[in-house]
Amino acid sequence: MVEFKDVSVTYSSGVDALNKVNLKINDGDFAFIVGSSGAGKSTLIKLILKEIDATSGVVTVNGFNLSKLRRGKVPKLRRTIGVVFQDFRLIPTMTVYENIAFVLRVIDAPAKYIRSRVPYVISLVGLTDKSKAYPTELSGGEQQRVALARALVNDPKLIIADEPTGNIDPALSYEIVELLKGINECGTTILMVTHEHDIVRHFGGRIINLNKGVISFDEVVGGKAK
Ligand code: ADP
Repeated sequence: MVEFKDVSVTYSSGVDALNKVNLKINDGDFAFIVGSSGAGKSTLIKLILKEIDATSGVVTVNGFNLSKLRRGKVPKLRRTIGVVFQDFRLIPTMTVYENIAFVLRVIDAPAKYIRSRVPYVISLVGLTDKSKAYPTELSGGEQQRVALARALVNDPKLIIADEPTGNIDPALSYEIVELLKGINECGTTILMVTHEHDIVRHFGGRIINLNKGVISFDEVVGGKAK
């Protein structure tokens, strides 16, 4: 669960990036976050990951009150969140399998668990036959599916997808969102930042529109997808 109560962020430059934002994303929700450049979308994501702190107000994420969370406990928060970036951020010298297994090795997961969990998430994103490929041998859409598997492998409560379709073919973008929808149906909360209106119109659902640091629209709308 993500909750913002009267959250404002003013950067040291004096820019008010968010202004008294109130927001609640329940467990199991799927929400699109839209808004033009400079609207405050990245600031909102950085708050959830505790990369920055609110200037005022309270942010709660997966049971953690972020204003009270000490630095040493931030990794514990981040283990409950999977992040997918626009630029994939895969490690080029590692295969698909190794890129995903790496996440579990870092947290000292048992080798036996890694050997069963990694192929499972690779199959979820439909890349079983590419397990041994390197990122440069994959299309943009495939690389993003690896990034999605990597975000999923730790079984997070929340996945944040920050412009996940920004660097891939429009036709493949729909596949990525379909995958996110499928993951959501299995219970994971998903927040997807996008500026692609076609995708939002197609899928519908909850749309949160940020405009100059303020939520100007937060409603569930019908999509065209069946
Ligand atoms: P978006 O992700 O919607 O494009 P941002 O959250 O990046 O919006 O930015 C919101 C506002 O805050 C913008 O006016 C931007 O210029 C400003 N901003 C973002 N990051 C910083 C920073 N580190 N220092 C100062 N101003 C910033």
